[in-house]
Amino acid sequence: MRIPFIAGNWKMFKTVQETVVFVKELGGFVKDVADVEIVVAPPFTSVHSAAVAARNTNIGVAAQDLYWEREGAFTGEVSASMIKEAGAEYVIVGHSERRRLFGDTDRAVNRKAIAAIGAGLTPIVCVGETLEERERDQTLAVLDRQVKDGLDGLTGDQVGEIVVAYEPVWAIGTGRHATAAQAGEAHAHIRKRLGQWFGAGAADRCHVIYGGSVKPENISELIAEPDVDGALVGGASLEVGSFADIVTKSRPAAV
Ligand code: PEP
Repeated sequence: MRIPFIAGNWKMFKTVQETVVFVKELGGFVKDVADVEIVVAPPFTSVHSAAVAARNTNIGVAAQDLYWEREGAFTGEVSASMIKEAGAEYVIVGHSERRRLFGDTDRAVNRKAIAAIGAGLTPIVCVGETLEERERDQTLAVLDRQVKDGLDGLTGDQVGEIVVAYEPVWAIGTGRHATAAQAGEAHAHIRKRLGQWFGAGAADRCHVIYGGSVKPENISELIAEPDVDGALVGGASLEVGSFADIVTKSRPAAV
């Protein structure tokens, strides 16, 4: 059984001090929640402090990106093993902001996902179509390409352990979320492809989560979709009360 997976992507927000305050406060809010996997993804500078603050809690920590080489002359980059050693268990790869603003290709996303797994991190691999692609009826073709190329070379066992985040680009930070039907269709399609390409077991175990303007007001309808296993939350994860609310509303008993 896939338990709901809720991750907060803080993007370039929160200092070390703000991170520690947030994680401690969140820990209090969610201390009794054993049936949702809860993750926060602070900026690199706060990963270690977040992990220390999250010790002995049910909160996991993710980084927001990585570089696939182990070490070397790559100014400004951070490797998977460095992230792991800092205390993270997860890492986001292929976020649409990385693809759009920093040129991450499907090939780069694939190398990052492989490096993450190699270092013992769980990658949260983001895919999703732009508004233009949706309007041209290319959504499923774009998802096919991003999933196939992004996960190229992974085994079924590995795919079963990762998280795929369906994040329509037009819904990120816009206040306009996908309808439950739109999310349901995309997630069912992704899971079907995972089954075809990596086997039924992989498709069954892989978490496919939704991202794009998720808020306490819309999480219930989204997570009620059978193939929506959780959410990657941007803006609404920055305020501890709203993030905790999203976690609470994702609990199986609440759906
Ligand atoms: C995100 O950054 O992954 C995201 C989904 O942002 P928001 O929730 O603000 O749309």
